[in-house]
Amino acid sequence: MPAIDRDLETLAVERDADGFVRLVFMVPGHRHNVLTPLVLEELSWVLDRLAAERPRGVILMSGRPGSFFAGADVARLEELGGLPAAEVARLCDRGKAVLAKLSDSFPTVAIIDGTCLGGGLELALACDLRVATAARHTSLGLPEVKLGLLPGWGGTVRLTRLIGPGPAVELAASGEPFDGVAAARLGVVDACVPSVAAVESARRLLAIRGDDGSVAARRTCMAAAVDLDPLEREFLEATTAAVILGRTGGHYPAPAAILRTILAGVAVDAAAASRLESEAFAKLAATPVARNLLRVFSIGERNRRDAGVDSAAGGEPSQAVAAAIVGAGIMGAGIAASHLRAGLPVTVVDVNPEALATGVPGILAEAAWDRLAKQTDEARAVELAGQLRTATSLAALAAADLVMESVTERPDVKQQVLAEIERTVGPATVITTNTSTNPIGRLAAGLVDPSRFCGLHFFNPVRRMMLVEVVRGAATSDATVARAVAHAKRLGKCPVVVQDSPGFLVNRILMPYLHEAGELLREGVAAERIDRVARGFGMPLGPIELYDMVGLDTAFYAGLVLSAAFGDRIEASPVIPALVKAGKLGRKTAAGFYRYAAAGPHGRLVGRDDTAAEVIARYAHAPRESSDRTIVDRLFLPMLLEALRTLDEGIVRDGRDIDLAVIHALGFPAFRGGLLAWGDSLGAAEVVRRLEPLGELGARMQPTERLLAHASSGRPFTV
Ligand code: NAD
Repeated sequence: MPAIDRDLETLAVERDADGFVRLVFMVPGHRHNVLTPLVLEELSWVLDRLAAERPRGVILMSGRPGSFFAGADVARLEELGGLPAAEVARLCDRGKAVLAKLSDSFPTVAIIDGTCLGGGLELALACDLRVATAARHTSLGLPEVKLGLLPGWGGTVRLTRLIGPGPAVELAASGEPFDGVAAARLGVVDACVPSVAAVESARRLLAIRGDDGSVAARRTCMAAAVDLDPLEREFLEATTAAVILGRTGGHYPAPAAILRTILAGVAVDAAAASRLESEAFAKLAATPVARNLLRVFSIGERNRRDAGVDSAAGGEPSQAVAAAIVGAGIMGAGIAASHLRAGLPVTVVDVNPEALATGVPGILAEAAWDRLAKQTDEARAVELAGQLRTATSLAALAAADLVMESVTERPDVKQQVLAEIERTVGPATVITTNTSTNPIGRLAAGLVDPSRFCGLHFFNPVRRMMLVEVVRGAATSDATVARAVAHAKRLGKCPVVVQDSPGFLVNRILMPYLHEAGELLREGVAAERIDRVARGFGMPLGPIELYDMVGLDTAFYAGLVLSAAFGDRIEASPVIPALVKAGKLGRKTAAGFYRYAAAGPHGRLVGRDDTAAEVIARYAHAPRESSDRTIVDRLFLPMLLEALRTLDEGIVRDGRDIDLAVIHALGFPAFRGGLLAWGDSLGAAEVVRRLEPLGELGARMQPTERLLAHASSGRPFTV
């Protein structure tokens, strides 16, 4: 038996008495196992050694509970966008050559316990067999599409041969994760078992399938072309292409490339299909969309690794924390649900027992929502109920480490509640507010110790919006910021630290967009057209639809705060207060700019509202040129100008945080890379040129000093 006469850093080789070998991965220097070049090199070396030994079978598993392989090494992924196509294809082929060794000689099985994503799943697919655990932390998927790529290590080829082209396209083109049970149902794994039984099941599976010839038969199938009826192929192509277009609006090339690559690969043997896959991967990696998505991913990673402050003031996301929320309204309930979803117990206090009575079922339903089944997992909801404590008195906060105030947006009420929270909790407790419009400095005024106070501003709906603004007041300490940042990360959110100023970062950048849409309406441009152009640009909702969703009363109040601060460029529009006065508050009253079939977030849009039309006519401006291009410029250039001003004022540390914030809080199209990246796609000089004809609209369209400096130096906005 050849010895493993080398110190291996990323895996251990363990031998069983009955001829099985276990390769146990534990990649140092990372929280999860990731496929670094060293992992591939060591795996390749070990497989070569074992080939000579001919073991009865080899089991690949992780020595790290909850993490099989989280995917490729992030640092390598970040580099992809800048490499030439030939080099990218070579990287694919190098990985593929190692993975191919897994189904070359002895039978192999992967035990999937924990995350098994991207390259991790491709590694598992390269084995002959797979056993997944039924544990809650087990999650499989091919998320490459979310980076504008496709699986480049044989994933599209093997998955297609394993489960058929239709399901393979669906999994690879959506990128959605699935659990062990779903993996077994789809045929991605051969068995799904409880974690304690995984090793024994893998050994049995290897013994039975290795000996009865079924591994050999599967290898033959996996190497061949796929038998697909031409009519079926045509049907799959037409229907899936339509679904993809509906989902992407034609803005993201990867899903369609995945469909094309899989269908082309069906007709040829696996080796040829694999070459097609590498070519398609290299082509996608060179697209501006993939470059933008990789950059967004990489700046998201920067924030995930970052404590939010320069000093290393304590705040480890892994530390347990007793969290509490005050206010069980729309936002408090959403924040509570995200705690339960993240596995954190939470206390919710509301003075109004009815708010708790109506809020709790919604909190549990949202926390136990099963994304795949598209319904609440009732058993899970019952389990989670034990993690949710409710109370009507602030005395329930006594033991909390971190309190999130989310009561009614009235400064007097907030100040009073915050002072009472401070009297109730211990001296080390961090106190935060979810206020959208009140300056942190003003709310801190009534506190004995304002250093432990900051904003923790979530966005609506909390379950969907990843961003959390951690708002630093003048008196907030580093330790408080670090603990707030760590808490947002515990919830799986993306925290961005911003300085206290009107509208903080996101609402300040949003307001020019909403305001300009109102001005376009007054010039006679139809609401539907403004919304259609904004959606065509890639926004999830047009600005007029967004007004109705946010609520015109809320928008009015936020607008007042911003126009008081920046009145030279954001004047309070008379249209909004007139609609509020008429009781047209948007979706919540079944009418705003549009009419809806029912009040509430889901009422079907019926058409334009007559009162809105009448109010808009009352405040009409003279019509102006309004091509679609002009509408895009008018909606988005003032946002860009405002973003540049926030950089001047040091509201965020740099433009990367702005791009991350607009994507994760406003749904700004990620394929454009964020607001500043979009500005760069035009170029600063072109931005100045496009602003020229808009100059007569006033200060809101005037280039800033920073913009002019970029235009003359040619330096990009992004770093
Ligand atoms: P909401 O009106 O739905 O809920 C407020 C809750 O606070 C109510 O249940 C009320 O009973 C409770 N409350 C009032 N006074 C209280 C007190 N003294 N002690 C305990 N509970 C009390 O409001 P919401 O939309 O959830 O907003 C809450 C906060 O979140 C506000 O500061 C708002 O600006 C902010 N916010 C809202 C949104 C949004 O889109 N709704 C988005 C981001 C931030």
